[in-house]
Amino acid sequence: MLSNVCVKSALVVARSSPVESHKARASAPTRASRKTAGAKAAHLLASREFSGRAQLFSTASTTKCVQRVSMRTMCTAASTDEVKIVEVDLGDRTYPIYIGSGLNWGETLKKHVPGNTVLVVTNETIAPLYLDRAVKALSEDGKIRVETVVLPDGEKYKTLEVLNKVYDKALEARLDRQTTFVALGGGVIGDMTGYAAASYQRGVHFIQVPTTTMAMVDSSVGGKTGVNHPLGKNMIGAFYQPRCVMIDTEVLATLPDRELASGIAEVVKYGLIRDAEFFAWQEENMAALLGREPAALVEAIERSCVNKALVVAADEKEAGLRATLNLGHTFGHAIENNLGYGEWLHGEAVSAGMVMAADMSARLGWVEPALVDRTVNILKAANLPITPPAGLEKQQFMDTMAVDKKVANGKLRLILLKGPLGGCVFTDQFEKDKLVETIEAFVN
Ligand code: NAD
Repeated sequence: MLSNVCVKSALVVARSSPVESHKARASAPTRASRKTAGAKAAHLLASREFSGRAQLFSTASTTKCVQRVSMRTMCTAASTDEVKIVEVDLGDRTYPIYIGSGLNWGETLKKHVPGNTVLVVTNETIAPLYLDRAVKALSEDGKIRVETVVLPDGEKYKTLEVLNKVYDKALEARLDRQTTFVALGGGVIGDMTGYAAASYQRGVHFIQVPTTTMAMVDSSVGGKTGVNHPLGKNMIGAFYQPRCVMIDTEVLATLPDRELASGIAEVVKYGLIRDAEFFAWQEENMAALLGREPAALVEAIERSCVNKALVVAADEKEAGLRATLNLGHTFGHAIENNLGYGEWLHGEAVSAGMVMAADMSARLGWVEPALVDRTVNILKAANLPITPPAGLEKQQFMDTMAVDKKVANGKLRLILLKGPLGGCVFTDQFEKDKLVETIEAFVN
């Protein structure tokens, strides 16, 4: 059993008051604590600070995650005039996630840049929108030389070949081991830049500036980095943690609706697998999220990051608990694989996959049918698909599931819901007939 995994979340300062310098690599403090500027911030800190605790119970074939997280009550009208900090508690690699709307990029980022050179990596879509802002923020006082590299946009460019452009730029610009690579983009740019940072000169500093909901609530946190190989997605990579993650929800203003919703699928996932209160909050606030209300976005992103941080702190290298973050993904991969990757967005496939996982859990008698209805309703409200597209082949669907990464010793392991809302298991101990029944009900 892993013990006492604590994640600190602290609120700090109004935007006009600079965030206290953060010791990103210092040992994790035992309690959430931050110096604040002014009484307002002190009050916020006292009233909204929380600590969480997650435990992992493991048997040979089943990993049951038991949610014992006591978090502050969610509020519907959080002020956006504040910076929230969630810490990912990894000992001497502990790092902060800054979350807010309209952050001061220079102030936030520069304190995590140890040397005097930075390479900002982004893509052709994001560069015209936000690259200038990032470069100005980092270079305005003349102390940091900022280089940039702009990659083509798309999952199909998440390859070693394209990654070479990052190494080429870094070498041409004579960037040394004290350099910091900054990922400015969605999950594709984050994963690629992280792997470049892990491998360039055997490892340079790394910062994530996620610009999609998917990257803000999931991919920028936890240190999974990598690229695709022609024979498999994300097959070349490394665990490599950033020095900080800076999430400014303002950049979501330009994100297409479909991409926004895709990331919300992962938000719903946290509610289903480990945070019933968060799920209920989402049921109340989905319209505000889709309407991009800053307070709602900040709230949902913070709560998602807290959940992810708890899991990562407990199981950084995915020995068990971290696998539960893949609820719906095995079904979802079968959808993506059968449709052809790129046809549906990842979060869309995960959405339909989560409904299938919930349905199978109900068929097994592990959850009440009402939980399946709630799952369907919330995903519908998020404008996400709740069934796979018509025309998929049942046998092909099953075959794809059988070669999923979560197969161990020839046995398919699934993340399924169990017990009241917020509980799940990662297991190969289920009646196979129920899986077939679910696939027959959904794939036609
Ligand atoms: P993405 O990075 O492809 O971004 C989606 C699209 O939105 C792109 O066209 C991008 O250019 C555009 N975009 C990004 N930010 C924008 C903005 N602010 N305004 C306008 N357009 C913007 O996709 P994604 O969903 O962010 O990430 C998917 C990737 O993340 C996959 O490669 C997946 O494997 C990876 N992933 C990694 C992890 C992890 O733990 N490392 C977790 C989940 C997903």
